[in-house]
Amino acid sequence: MATIPVNLQAVLARIENAARVYGRMPGTVGLLAVSKTWPASRVLEAAAAGQRAFGENYVQEGIDKIREVARTDLEWHFIGPLQGNKTRQVAEAFDWVHSVDRLKIAERLSAQRPRTLPPLQACLQVNISGEATKSGVAPQDVSALAREVARLPGIALRGLMAIPAPAADLAGQREPFARLRRLFEQLIREGLALDTLSMGMSGDIEAAVAEGATLVRVGTAIFGERDKS
Ligand SMILES: *Cc1c(COP(=O)(O)O)cnc(C)c1O
Repeated sequence: MATIPVNLQAVLARIENAARVYGRMPGTVGLLAVSKTWPASRVLEAAAAGQRAFGENYVQEGIDKIREVARTDLEWHFIGPLQGNKTRQVAEAFDWVHSVDRLKIAERLSAQRPRTLPPLQACLQVNISGEATKSGVAPQDVSALAREVARLPGIALRGLMAIPAPAADLAGQREPFARLRRLFEQLIREGLALDTLSMGMSGDIEAAVAEGATLVRVGTAIFGERDKS
């Protein structure tokens, strides 16, 4: 039954190994444990094994879980699609949001962030594979959006996030991550103080680390297969 601690160690070993293989500095790739669909008890098991940052995709589920887990030493990241009518709950309950993809949403999050809390830490989600059905800002619009979001007082813009289309092999996985990294580097050259490249999931951790991920978002490899129903 000790699967979560064992899985966590295996994921940390994958990250560490990839960091070594691809010449990354030790300790520069963080792990976000994606606990969506799993109960608070699983979060507590992972927390007992040392994990501190958790990712949620659905606003109501996330809010309920944050309340039930009731620990002040954990960091909560909202990583799912975000509608305008749900921004207040995210602004009030989460530490981070990875899925900002339009100014309207960012403005609402900024205005609704309680001033008693630090600014909401944010990444812009980029539609890096150009899929019509995927959320995310188009690569050519990232720079303009980033400059506007960076000015909002309730938000601290930290970087970029993407979920590329699935690829068959390591080279195919690395290619969209490399494009996201080049966009990230371009924004830094333009003067934005960014430090977070949120990319890589259970199936493509190594490709993401190879291309400069600073935060991988891993669910299945830690908690097991999710119930699809
Ligand atoms: C579910 C999800 C993940 C984790 O995916 P796994 O394949 O289970 O590791 C990461 N990022 C986002 C945005 C997700 O929705």
